[in-house]
Amino acid sequence: MPGTSAANIENRPQRVLPKILFLPFALAFLLLLFTGNALAEEEALIYKNARDRMVRTQIKSRGISDPATLRAMESVPRHLFVPETSVPDAYDDRPLPIGYGQTISQPYIVAYMTEIVQPKPQQRILEIGTGSGYQAAILAETGVSVYTIEIIPELAKNASERLRRLGYGRVQVKSGDGYFGWEKHAPYDAIVVTAAAEYIPPPLLVQLKDGGRMVIPVGSPFFVQTLMLVEKHGKETGTRSLMPVRFVPFRRAE
Ligand code: SAH
Repeated sequence: MPGTSAANIENRPQRVLPKILFLPFALAFLLLLFTGNALAEEEALIYKNARDRMVRTQIKSRGISDPATLRAMESVPRHLFVPETSVPDAYDDRPLPIGYGQTISQPYIVAYMTEIVQPKPQQRILEIGTGSGYQAAILAETGVSVYTIEIIPELAKNASERLRRLGYGRVQVKSGDGYFGWEKHAPYDAIVVTAAAEYIPPPLLVQLKDGGRMVIPVGSPFFVQTLMLVEKHGKETGTRSLMPVRFVPFRRAE
């Protein structure tokens, strides 16, 4: 070949061959990336549709109308808060087991408890009973600062990690007995208790802001309880029975 030395001809195959070999791998990688992305997008769309249907048929239809609550229920991926075996049932109209004998509440109850405390951006809300972290994420979506306490250390740890992974890293999770509240961040604009107590824990009432609202299931564990709304006005507290509910028991640290 004119202008090409023998040394160059010998070198050429060594330089070109690896590039040619690399090409199919690069194409396969791009294809995988593309189909992987397309599959993930399709999956996200399926769950978004399931969520929209849940909000329409279980929540709006039962009278929940607060736009912030509805928006939160439409956006938090509930299927990522349940164990893998329950993912297909995540948007069903019922509570689901989350391990350690505990449950994630029925979507309607989560929405109801959110709407009733009237969350507003910049407020501080305390939740007792983190469980999966789902109710905490819903509250956080409305723009409030959320502090949540869970008595089962493993659930507290898992929920904390999950919340961070899903972008709710601002939610503060504490492992401990929620009976005593979380003095450090008190007073709270609202307190949401997601385990059934025999009576309203006095420290929670103390940590509720004047004019604040607490929603709490009160009654015997293992029976039907009453969801109560507690409103604090100075030294007076007003209570209102909202509806019969079934929650897991409020436990006490030994
Ligand atoms: N809000 C949760 C539902 C959790 S069920 C969710 O969205 O998934 C109630 C939770 O309250 C259980 O995880 C239970 O371990 C916890 N719990 C019960 N008694 C408690 C207490 N005294 N302090 C803190 N958490 C408590």
